[in-house]
Amino acid sequence: MNGIALIGGRVIDPANNFDGIADVLISDGKIKAIGKDVLKNAPPDIQKIDVKGNIVCPGLIDCHVHLREPGQSAKETIATGTAAAARGGFTSVVCMPNTSPAIDNPANVALIAEKASKSGVVNVFVAGAITKNIAGEELAPIGSLKQAGVVAITDDGHCVQNNEIMRRALEYANMFNLPVMDHCQDYSLVTDGVMHEGYWSIALGLRGWPASGEEMIVLRDILLAELTGAHVHCQHISTAKSVQLIRDAKKRGVKITAEACPHHFTLTDNAVAGSDKFWKGDGKSLIESGVGFSDDVFWHSYDTNFKVNPPLRSAKDRDAIIEGIADGTLDIIASDHAPHCSYEKEVEFDFAPFGMTGLETTLSLSLMRLYHTKKMSLSELIARMTVNPAKMLNINRGTLSVGAPADITVFNPDLEWRFDLAESASKSKNSPFGGWKLKGRAVITIVAGKVIWKL
Ligand SMILES: [Zn+2]
Repeated sequence: MNGIALIGGRVIDPANNFDGIADVLISDGKIKAIGKDVLKNAPPDIQKIDVKGNIVCPGLIDCHVHLREPGQSAKETIATGTAAAARGGFTSVVCMPNTSPAIDNPANVALIAEKASKSGVVNVFVAGAITKNIAGEELAPIGSLKQAGVVAITDDGHCVQNNEIMRRALEYANMFNLPVMDHCQDYSLVTDGVMHEGYWSIALGLRGWPASGEEMIVLRDILLAELTGAHVHCQHISTAKSVQLIRDAKKRGVKITAEACPHHFTLTDNAVAGSDKFWKGDGKSLIESGVGFSDDVFWHSYDTNFKVNPPLRSAKDRDAIIEGIADGTLDIIASDHAPHCSYEKEVEFDFAPFGMTGLETTLSLSLMRLYHTKKMSLSELIARMTVNPAKMLNINRGTLSVGAPADITVFNPDLEWRFDLAESASKSKNSPFGGWKLKGRAVITIVAGKVIWKL
Protein backbone atom coordinates (compact mmCIF):
# COMPACT_ATOMS: atom_id res chain seq x y z
CA MET A 1 0.00 0.00 0.00
CA ASN A 2 1.35 3.37 -0.96
CA GLY A 3 -0.05 6.25 1.01
CA ILE A 4 -3.33 7.41 2.49
CA ALA A 5 -6.13 9.66 1.23
CA LEU A 6 -8.36 11.39 3.79
CA ILE A 7 -11.63 11.91 1.96
CA GLY A 8 -14.29 14.58 2.48
CA GLY A 9 -13.24 16.23 5.74
CA ARG A 10 -13.26 19.92 6.58
CA VAL A 11 -9.58 20.80 6.32
CA ILE A 12 -8.46 23.65 8.58
CA ASP A 13 -4.84 24.75 8.28
CA PRO A 14 -4.33 28.12 10.00
CA ALA A 15 -0.69 28.28 8.81
CA ASN A 16 -1.96 28.57 5.23
CA ASN A 17 -5.24 30.35 6.02
CA PHE A 18 -7.10 27.37 4.59
CA ASP A 19 -10.57 26.30 5.70
CA GLY A 20 -12.73 24.19 3.39
CA ILE A 21 -13.95 20.73 2.41
CA ALA A 22 -11.06 18.93 0.73
CA ASP A 23 -9.26 15.62 0.37
CA VAL A 24 -5.74 15.18 1.70
CA LEU A 25 -3.25 12.92 -0.07
CA ILE A 26 -0.33 11.54 1.92
CA SER A 27 2.59 9.48 0.67
CA ASP A 28 6.18 8.76 1.72
CA GLY A 29 5.39 10.35 5.08
CA LYS A 30 4.71 13.74 3.49
CA ILE A 31 1.69 15.81 2.52
CA LYS A 32 1.41 15.32 -1.27
CA ALA A 33 -1.70 17.30 -2.19
CA ILE A 34 -4.81 18.97 -0.78
CA GLY A 35 -7.88 19.72 -2.85
CA LYS A 36 -10.93 18.36 -4.63
CA ASP A 37 -9.42 15.95 -7.16
CA VAL A 38 -6.30 14.72 -5.44
CA LEU A 39 -7.30 11.10 -6.04
CA LYS A 40 -6.75 11.49 -9.81
CA ASN A 41 -2.99 11.39 -9.39
CA ALA A 42 -3.02 8.91 -6.54
CA PRO A 43 -1.60 5.40 -6.85
CA PRO A 44 -4.38 2.79 -7.31
CA ASP A 45 -3.57 0.91 -4.10
CA ILE A 46 -3.92 3.97 -1.90
CA GLN A 47 -5.78 3.53 1.43
CA LYS A 48 -8.91 5.69 1.41
CA ILE A 49 -10.26 6.86 4.77
CA ASP A 50 -13.66 8.55 4.89
CA VAL A 51 -13.44 11.51 7.30
CA LYS A 52 -16.70 13.26 6.35
CA GLY A 53 -18.15 15.30 9.21
CA ASN A 54 -14.74 15.61 10.86
CA ILE A 55 -12.07 18.31 11.05
CA VAL A 56 -8.70 17.54 9.46
CA CYS A 57 -5.91 19.76 10.80
CA PRO A 58 -2.13 19.79 11.25
CA GLY A 59 -1.04 17.38 14.00
CA LEU A 60 -1.45 18.99 17.40
CA ILE A 61 1.71 20.02 19.26
CA ASP A 62 1.92 20.01 23.06
CA CYS A 63 4.88 22.12 24.19
CA HIS A 64 4.59 21.17 27.85
CA VAL A 65 4.67 17.47 28.75
CA HIS A 66 6.36 15.46 31.51
CA LEU A 67 7.34 12.04 30.13
CA ARG A 68 9.28 11.23 33.35
CA GLU A 69 12.11 9.34 31.64
CA PRO A 70 14.83 8.90 32.74
CA GLY A 71 14.44 7.98 36.37
CA GLN A 72 10.72 8.16 37.12
CA SER A 73 9.30 5.44 34.90
CA ALA A 74 6.87 4.32 37.63
CA LYS A 75 4.92 7.51 36.80
CA GLU A 76 5.22 7.46 33.00
CA THR A 77 7.50 6.31 30.20
CA ILE A 78 8.12 7.63 26.71
CA ALA A 79 6.04 4.68 25.44
CA THR A 80 3.00 5.31 27.68
CA GLY A 81 3.20 9.11 27.56
CA THR A 82 3.35 9.24 23.78
CA ALA A 83 0.51 6.68 23.57
CA ALA A 84 -1.58 9.05 25.70
CA ALA A 85 -0.55 11.91 23.39
CA ALA A 86 -1.74 9.93 20.35
CA ARG A 87 -5.13 9.28 21.99
CA GLY A 88 -5.44 13.00 22.69
CA GLY A 89 -4.71 13.92 19.05
CA PHE A 90 -1.14 15.13 19.63
CA THR A 91 1.51 14.23 17.05
CA SER A 92 4.37 16.11 18.74
CA VAL A 93 5.23 16.72 22.37
CA VAL A 94 8.01 18.65 24.07
CA CYS A 95 9.27 16.81 27.14
CA MET A 96 10.36 18.75 30.20
CA PRO A 97 13.89 18.31 31.62
CA ASN A 98 13.03 17.89 35.32
CA THR A 99 13.74 14.18 35.18
CA SER A 100 16.15 12.19 37.31
CA PRO A 101 18.87 12.94 36.32
CA ALA A 102 17.81 16.26 34.75
CA ILE A 103 18.20 16.83 31.01
CA ASP A 104 21.03 19.32 31.54
CA ASN A 105 23.71 17.85 29.27
CA PRO A 106 24.01 16.52 25.69
CA ALA A 107 24.27 12.85 26.77
CA ASN A 108 20.84 12.95 28.41
CA VAL A 109 19.33 14.64 25.34
CA ALA A 110 20.77 11.81 23.23
CA LEU A 111 19.33 9.24 25.65
CA ILE A 112 15.81 10.67 25.26
CA ALA A 113 16.17 10.87 21.47
CA GLU A 114 17.25 7.23 21.31
CA LYS A 115 14.46 6.01 23.59
CA ALA A 116 11.91 8.10 21.70
CA SER A 117 12.99 6.64 18.35
CA LYS A 118 12.51 3.11 19.76
CA SER A 119 9.38 3.41 21.91
CA GLY A 120 7.75 6.77 21.11
CA VAL A 121 4.67 6.75 18.88
CA VAL A 122 4.61 10.54 18.37
CA ASN A 123 7.46 13.00 17.76
CA VAL A 124 9.32 13.81 20.96
CA PHE A 125 11.11 17.15 21.06
CA VAL A 126 13.33 17.80 24.04
CA ALA A 127 13.58 20.86 26.29
CA GLY A 128 16.93 21.16 28.06
CA ALA A 129 17.52 22.67 31.48
CA ILE A 130 18.49 26.31 32.03
CA THR A 131 20.71 25.46 35.00
CA LYS A 132 22.72 22.43 36.06
CA ASN A 133 20.53 19.89 37.83
CA ILE A 134 17.74 22.52 37.68
CA ALA A 135 19.25 23.94 40.85
CA GLY A 136 19.13 27.57 39.69
CA GLU A 137 22.77 28.19 40.57
CA GLU A 138 24.97 27.52 37.55
CA LEU A 139 24.07 27.69 33.86
CA ALA A 140 23.74 24.41 31.96
CA PRO A 141 25.89 24.12 28.77
CA ILE A 142 23.28 25.87 26.63
CA GLY A 143 25.26 25.80 23.35
CA SER A 144 25.97 22.08 23.68
CA LEU A 145 22.33 21.42 24.51
CA LYS A 146 21.31 23.24 21.34
CA GLN A 147 23.82 21.21 19.34
CA ALA A 148 22.38 18.04 20.85
CA GLY A 149 18.98 19.04 19.51
CA VAL A 150 16.93 20.73 22.25
CA VAL A 151 14.21 23.06 20.97
CA ALA A 152 14.05 25.24 24.11
CA ILE A 153 15.40 25.49 27.64
CA THR A 154 13.46 25.62 30.91
CA ASP A 155 13.89 24.71 34.57
CA ASP A 156 10.19 23.76 34.67
CA GLY A 157 9.00 22.53 38.02
CA HIS A 158 11.47 25.05 39.36
CA CYS A 159 12.20 28.68 38.59
CA VAL A 160 15.57 30.46 38.43
CA GLN A 161 15.33 32.92 41.34
CA ASN A 162 18.60 34.79 40.73
CA ASN A 163 17.87 37.53 38.19
CA GLU A 164 21.51 37.80 37.11
CA ILE A 165 21.65 34.08 36.24
CA MET A 166 18.36 34.41 34.35
CA ARG A 167 19.76 37.39 32.43
CA ARG A 168 22.86 35.38 31.38
CA ALA A 169 20.65 32.43 30.40
CA LEU A 170 18.62 34.70 28.14
CA GLU A 171 21.75 36.18 26.57
CA TYR A 172 23.25 32.76 25.84
CA ALA A 173 19.99 31.29 24.61
CA ASN A 174 19.54 34.27 22.30
CA MET A 175 22.93 33.59 20.69
CA PHE A 176 21.69 30.09 19.83
CA ASN A 177 18.20 31.22 18.84
CA LEU A 178 16.61 29.13 21.60
CA PRO A 179 13.44 30.22 23.37
CA VAL A 180 13.67 30.27 27.17
CA MET A 181 10.51 28.82 28.73
CA ASP A 182 9.87 29.81 32.32
CA HIS A 183 7.81 28.28 35.12
CA CYS A 184 7.03 31.58 36.87
CA GLN A 185 7.20 31.16 40.63
CA ASP A 186 8.75 33.53 43.16
CA TYR A 187 9.86 31.28 46.01
CA SER A 188 9.92 34.02 48.65
CA LEU A 189 6.26 34.88 47.98
CA VAL A 190 4.99 31.34 47.47
CA THR A 191 7.04 29.61 50.20
CA ASP A 192 5.20 26.35 50.90
CA GLY A 193 1.79 27.34 49.50
CA VAL A 194 -0.30 24.42 48.23
CA MET A 195 -3.38 26.13 46.72
CA HIS A 196 -4.45 29.58 45.47
CA GLU A 197 -4.36 32.15 48.26
CA GLY A 198 -7.93 33.36 48.65
CA TYR A 199 -11.27 32.58 50.26
CA TRP A 200 -10.97 28.82 49.83
CA SER A 201 -7.41 28.48 51.17
CA ILE A 202 -8.62 30.22 54.34
CA ALA A 203 -11.87 28.24 54.54
CA LEU A 204 -10.05 24.93 54.03
CA GLY A 205 -7.07 25.80 56.22
CA LEU A 206 -4.49 25.23 53.48
CA ARG A 207 -1.42 27.38 52.90
CA GLY A 208 -1.89 29.95 50.12
CA TRP A 209 0.11 30.29 46.84
CA PRO A 210 -0.57 33.97 46.02
CA ALA A 211 -1.20 35.22 42.48
CA SER A 212 1.64 37.71 42.95
CA GLY A 213 4.03 34.75 43.30
CA GLU A 214 3.53 34.19 39.56
CA GLU A 215 3.15 37.82 38.48
CA MET A 216 6.44 38.90 40.09
CA ILE A 217 8.39 36.51 37.82
CA VAL A 218 6.28 37.28 34.73
CA LEU A 219 7.20 40.94 35.23
CA ARG A 220 10.87 40.02 35.80
CA ASP A 221 10.88 37.98 32.59
CA ILE A 222 9.33 40.84 30.62
CA LEU A 223 12.00 43.25 31.87
CA LEU A 224 14.82 40.80 31.07
CA ALA A 225 13.40 39.98 27.63
CA GLU A 226 13.36 43.72 26.96
CA LEU A 227 16.91 44.14 28.28
CA THR A 228 18.41 41.24 26.32
CA GLY A 229 16.19 41.05 23.24
CA ALA A 230 15.81 37.34 23.90
CA HIS A 231 12.61 35.31 23.48
CA VAL A 232 10.92 34.38 26.76
CA HIS A 233 7.98 32.00 26.83
CA CYS A 234 5.92 32.04 30.06
CA GLN A 235 4.57 28.59 30.87
CA HIS A 236 1.13 27.74 32.29
CA ILE A 237 -0.09 31.30 32.98
CA SER A 238 -2.80 31.24 35.65
CA THR A 239 -3.65 34.76 36.85
CA ALA A 240 -5.55 37.75 35.47
CA LYS A 241 -2.70 40.16 36.21
CA SER A 242 -0.13 37.95 34.44
CA VAL A 243 -2.34 38.10 31.33
CA GLN A 244 -2.50 41.91 31.58
CA LEU A 245 1.29 42.21 32.05
CA ILE A 246 1.93 40.06 28.96
CA ARG A 247 -0.71 41.91 26.94
CA ASP A 248 0.96 45.27 27.74
CA ALA A 249 4.45 43.91 27.04
CA LYS A 250 3.39 42.57 23.63
CA LYS A 251 1.97 46.00 22.76
CA ARG A 252 5.43 47.46 23.44
CA GLY A 253 6.97 44.87 21.12
CA VAL A 254 8.65 42.70 23.76
CA LYS A 255 9.59 39.26 22.42
CA ILE A 256 7.37 37.26 24.72
CA THR A 257 4.97 34.36 24.21
CA ALA A 258 2.83 32.49 26.73
CA GLU A 259 0.77 29.37 27.19
CA ALA A 260 -2.35 28.40 29.16
CA CYS A 261 -3.57 24.98 30.31
CA PRO A 262 -7.13 23.60 30.17
CA HIS A 263 -7.37 23.09 33.95
CA HIS A 264 -6.73 26.80 34.50
CA PHE A 265 -9.48 27.84 32.09
CA THR A 266 -11.95 25.18 33.29
CA LEU A 267 -11.53 24.67 37.05
CA THR A 268 -11.10 27.06 40.00
CA ASP A 269 -9.82 26.84 43.59
CA ASN A 270 -13.45 26.15 44.56
CA ALA A 271 -12.92 22.57 43.26
CA VAL A 272 -10.61 21.80 46.21
CA ALA A 273 -13.67 22.22 48.48
CA GLY A 274 -15.33 19.17 46.87
CA SER A 275 -17.82 18.56 44.09
CA ASP A 276 -20.93 19.63 46.05
CA LYS A 277 -19.45 23.08 46.66
CA PHE A 278 -17.95 23.36 43.15
CA TRP A 279 -21.08 22.47 41.16
CA LYS A 280 -23.12 24.97 43.20
CA GLY A 281 -20.33 27.58 42.98
CA ASP A 282 -17.80 28.20 40.19
CA GLY A 283 -18.79 24.96 38.42
CA LYS A 284 -22.32 26.22 37.81
CA SER A 285 -21.20 28.27 34.80
CA LEU A 286 -19.77 25.12 33.17
CA ILE A 287 -23.20 23.46 33.27
CA GLU A 288 -24.91 26.67 32.18
CA SER A 289 -22.59 26.93 29.17
CA GLY A 290 -24.63 24.00 27.80
CA VAL A 291 -21.73 22.35 26.00
CA GLY A 292 -21.57 18.91 27.58
CA PHE A 293 -20.46 19.33 31.19
CA SER A 294 -22.71 17.66 33.77
CA ASP A 295 -22.76 17.80 37.57
CA ASP A 296 -23.00 14.03 38.10
CA VAL A 297 -19.31 13.65 38.91
CA PHE A 298 -18.48 13.43 42.61
CA TRP A 299 -15.28 14.06 44.50
CA HIS A 300 -14.39 14.77 48.13
CA SER A 301 -12.93 17.98 49.49
CA TYR A 302 -9.11 18.03 49.62
CA ASP A 303 -8.92 15.74 46.54
CA THR A 304 -5.23 15.89 45.63
CA ASN A 305 -5.96 15.50 41.90
CA PHE A 306 -6.82 19.21 42.09
CA LYS A 307 -3.38 20.09 43.44
CA VAL A 308 -1.37 21.60 40.63
CA ASN A 309 1.41 24.16 40.20
CA PRO A 310 0.56 26.98 39.56
CA PRO A 311 -2.66 26.32 41.47
CA LEU A 312 -6.25 26.51 40.26
CA ARG A 313 -7.20 30.17 40.68
CA SER A 314 -10.36 32.24 41.20
CA ALA A 315 -13.25 32.47 38.74
CA LYS A 316 -12.05 35.96 37.79
CA ASP A 317 -8.62 34.59 36.89
CA ARG A 318 -10.24 31.73 34.94
CA ASP A 319 -12.24 34.24 32.87
CA ALA A 320 -9.14 36.36 32.25
CA ILE A 321 -7.23 33.32 30.94
CA ILE A 322 -10.03 32.68 28.45
CA GLU A 323 -10.03 36.33 27.34
CA GLY A 324 -6.24 36.15 27.03
CA ILE A 325 -6.37 33.10 24.77
CA ALA A 326 -9.17 34.59 22.69
CA ASP A 327 -7.38 37.90 22.04
CA GLY A 328 -4.04 36.19 21.33
CA THR A 329 -2.18 37.41 24.44
CA LEU A 330 -1.76 33.75 25.34
CA ASP A 331 -0.47 32.21 22.10
CA ILE A 332 -0.50 28.53 22.95
CA ILE A 333 -2.60 25.88 24.68
CA ALA A 334 -0.52 23.18 26.43
CA SER A 335 -1.46 20.35 28.78
CA ASP A 336 1.31 20.44 31.43
CA HIS A 337 0.70 16.66 31.52
CA ALA A 338 2.21 15.77 34.91
CA PRO A 339 1.73 12.09 35.81
CA HIS A 340 2.14 10.87 39.40
CA CYS A 341 1.62 7.41 40.96
CA SER A 342 -1.56 6.80 42.96
CA TYR A 343 0.37 6.11 46.15
CA GLU A 344 2.06 9.50 45.85
CA LYS A 345 -1.27 11.32 45.47
CA GLU A 346 -3.12 9.29 48.14
CA VAL A 347 -1.77 11.36 51.02
CA GLU A 348 -2.80 14.57 52.78
CA PHE A 349 -3.18 17.59 50.48
CA ASP A 350 -0.07 19.23 51.97
CA PHE A 351 2.15 16.26 51.13
CA ALA A 352 0.90 15.32 47.65
CA PRO A 353 3.02 16.24 44.61
CA PHE A 354 1.73 18.98 42.30
CA GLY A 355 0.36 18.03 38.88
CA MET A 356 -2.34 16.30 36.87
CA THR A 357 -2.36 14.34 33.61
CA GLY A 358 -3.83 16.15 30.62
CA LEU A 359 -2.83 14.78 27.21
CA GLU A 360 -6.16 12.96 26.65
CA THR A 361 -8.48 15.79 27.79
CA THR A 362 -6.77 18.95 26.48
CA LEU A 363 -8.42 19.01 23.05
CA SER A 364 -11.92 18.33 24.46
CA LEU A 365 -11.69 20.92 27.23
CA SER A 366 -10.30 23.51 24.80
CA LEU A 367 -13.15 22.89 22.35
CA MET A 368 -15.71 23.07 25.15
CA ARG A 369 -14.42 26.21 26.83
CA LEU A 370 -13.31 28.19 23.77
CA TYR A 371 -15.08 26.98 20.63
CA HIS A 372 -18.45 25.68 21.83
CA THR A 373 -18.86 28.81 23.99
CA LYS A 374 -18.17 30.92 20.84
CA LYS A 375 -15.10 32.63 22.31
CA MET A 376 -13.13 31.76 19.19
CA SER A 377 -13.36 30.03 15.82
CA LEU A 378 -12.08 26.52 15.17
CA SER A 379 -9.27 27.96 13.05
CA GLU A 380 -8.14 30.29 15.87
CA LEU A 381 -8.26 27.42 18.36
CA ILE A 382 -6.32 25.07 16.07
CA ALA A 383 -3.65 27.77 15.55
CA ARG A 384 -2.98 27.80 19.29
CA MET A 385 -2.25 24.06 19.20
CA THR A 386 -0.36 23.85 15.89
CA VAL A 387 1.29 26.76 14.08
CA ASN A 388 1.78 28.89 17.22
CA PRO A 389 3.75 26.32 19.22
CA ALA A 390 5.68 25.37 16.03
CA LYS A 391 6.71 29.02 15.59
CA MET A 392 7.62 29.44 19.24
CA LEU A 393 9.87 26.34 19.05
CA ASN A 394 11.17 26.98 15.50
CA ILE A 395 10.19 23.48 14.39
CA ASN A 396 9.06 22.33 10.95
CA ARG A 397 5.56 21.24 12.05
CA GLY A 398 2.10 22.63 12.58
CA THR A 399 1.22 23.00 8.90
CA LEU A 400 -0.40 21.02 6.09
CA SER A 401 1.77 22.66 3.42
CA VAL A 402 2.60 20.35 0.51
CA GLY A 403 5.93 18.68 1.29
CA ALA A 404 5.58 19.05 5.07
CA PRO A 405 5.79 15.96 7.32
CA ALA A 406 2.39 14.23 7.26
CA ASP A 407 1.47 14.78 10.91
CA ILE A 408 -2.30 15.11 10.94
CA THR A 409 -5.08 15.12 13.52
CA VAL A 410 -8.66 14.25 12.60
CA PHE A 411 -11.20 15.23 15.23
CA ASN A 412 -14.94 15.46 15.73
CA PRO A 413 -15.75 18.69 17.61
CA ASP A 414 -19.26 17.51 18.54
CA LEU A 415 -18.61 13.94 19.67
CA GLU A 416 -19.88 13.49 23.25
CA TRP A 417 -18.03 11.02 25.43
CA ARG A 418 -17.01 10.30 29.01
CA PHE A 419 -13.35 10.30 29.96
CA ASP A 420 -12.75 6.88 31.53
CA LEU A 421 -9.47 6.73 33.46
CA ALA A 422 -9.43 2.93 33.08
CA GLU A 423 -9.02 3.43 29.32
CA SER A 424 -6.31 6.08 29.62
CA ALA A 425 -2.97 5.14 28.03
CA SER A 426 -1.02 7.09 30.61
CA LYS A 427 0.69 5.04 33.30
CA SER A 428 -0.75 7.42 35.89
CA LYS A 429 -4.40 8.16 36.62
CA ASN A 430 -4.12 11.50 38.42
CA SER A 431 -6.65 13.42 36.35
CA PRO A 432 -9.52 15.23 38.07
CA PHE A 433 -11.54 14.80 34.86
CA GLY A 434 -12.11 11.04 35.21
CA GLY A 435 -15.82 10.36 34.61
CA TRP A 436 -16.48 13.84 33.23
CA LYS A 437 -18.82 14.24 30.27
CA LEU A 438 -16.85 15.92 27.47
CA LYS A 439 -17.61 17.15 23.96
CA GLY A 440 -15.19 16.89 21.05
CA ARG A 441 -12.49 14.28 20.56
CA ALA A 442 -9.66 13.21 18.27
CA VAL A 443 -10.68 10.23 16.11
CA ILE A 444 -7.54 9.60 14.02
CA THR A 445 -3.93 10.56 14.74
CA ILE A 446 -1.38 10.34 11.93
CA VAL A 447 2.39 10.73 12.40
CA ALA A 448 4.78 10.78 9.44
CA GLY A 449 2.04 9.41 7.17
CA LYS A 450 1.10 6.46 9.42
CA VAL A 451 -2.14 6.07 11.37
CA ILE A 452 -0.82 5.60 14.92
CA TRP A 453 -4.18 5.79 16.68
CA LYS A 454 -7.83 5.49 15.67
CA LEU A 455 -10.95 5.69 17.83
ZN1 LIG B 1 5.69 24.11 35.59
